[in-house]
Amino acid sequence: MRCTRRGWHPLNPTLWAAVLAVYACGDPPAGPDEGGTLVVEPEHWLLVLGESESVDLAAVARDAQGRPIPEIQLDWRSLDPHVVTADPTGRVSAVSAGMATVVATSRGLSAEAVVEVWDRPAPDPDAVDASQFGREHYIEYMPGALPLILSAPHGGVLRPDEIPDRTWGVTAADRETVDQALRVRDAFVHAFGSAPHLVISHLSRAKLDPNREVDEAAQGSPFADLAWSEYHEFVEAARESVVASHGWGIYLDLHGHGHDIQRVELGYLLTAEELGLPEAALDGLAAETTVRDLVARSGTPLTELVRGPNSLGTWLASLGTPSVPSAPDPWPGSDPYFRGGYSTARHGSRDGGSVSGIQLELHFEGLRDGASSRQAFALALVQAVDEFLTAHLGPGWEMP
Ligand SMILES: [Zn+2]
Repeated sequence: MRCTRRGWHPLNPTLWAAVLAVYACGDPPAGPDEGGTLVVEPEHWLLVLGESESVDLAAVARDAQGRPIPEIQLDWRSLDPHVVTADPTGRVSAVSAGMATVVATSRGLSAEAVVEVWDRPAPDPDAVDASQFGREHYIEYMPGALPLILSAPHGGVLRPDEIPDRTWGVTAADRETVDQALRVRDAFVHAFGSAPHLVISHLSRAKLDPNREVDEAAQGSPFADLAWSEYHEFVEAARESVVASHGWGIYLDLHGHGHDIQRVELGYLLTAEELGLPEAALDGLAAETTVRDLVARSGTPLTELVRGPNSLGTWLASLGTPSVPSAPDPWPGSDPYFRGGYSTARHGSRDGGSVSGIQLELHFEGLRDGASSRQAFALALVQAVDEFLTAHLGPGWEMP
């Protein structure tokens, strides 16, 4: 069947698919709106059972000259009423998981939207033998048994069409940090016989930034919004698991920075200026950091914990990876420095709980720039974490 293109005129390409639906099949447009168009927005939407269960669709009709037709009478219909229902106003509501087509018709014109209904499985931190994934495998969770949680938010490479590119905020990727996180996880398994928990975003940062509030992270895409929720729900499931089995935990959020100085930047949510304070003043800031619980649990003063001889930074430095803060490099001064972010603030112990968070911003040269350097850093980080926790919590990291 040859489809008519009468009345065609240049259009915003993003609207083209929906406009095609008007002409794709059936009779040519007829009647008073011959040559007109009808477009449904949004064309593709996602509803999540128990969370976001309805969306208001809208349809815009234009005449052959491209002028909006006001006060148009629309009929809305779900072709898959077991998945979604559609009411006369265009409100579409979830019924059960699946894909549904919703059709708007008016005066001989019609257009469609596709609405997906997703039923989220609950994370299972005890199922340690295999990865668990969110929808479309954008987010991966590898459960573990150690009281350690790793995350890699900015190393993903997936750029699915269904998620528009983010238009504001930082979109640069932290190159090779997914591979780095997997190597760190493997190195823990090799050293201890069991794994840390690991949560990975496989989405490009152009599509999702898990280390931001959801508005900036997902920028209105329901698909990115769900991935953001899955990411943080997996971290939360891991936190609950480590607290249930160990009573405490450490969350390490892995990033890569592009600053000129090639050193690891460890973030405890302290500013550069605060890290430069005298010992007594810095010690007084423990409650404002993401390692608040670790300070209390270990009895180690904050200064000692973040830049003393047994700090994580000092151990990394002594194993060949320059780090700030550390005994040899106690504060960043006026040089660029990342102090921590949304994820360590949310999942660390600043606001309570017994999982402390540290953001690790890794430099590129000599660390992320090759498989052998990433492997060497993975081994160094595992040893540094072991020495750090042994010094402050005891051998086997028991609670002292
Ligand atoms: Zn990052």
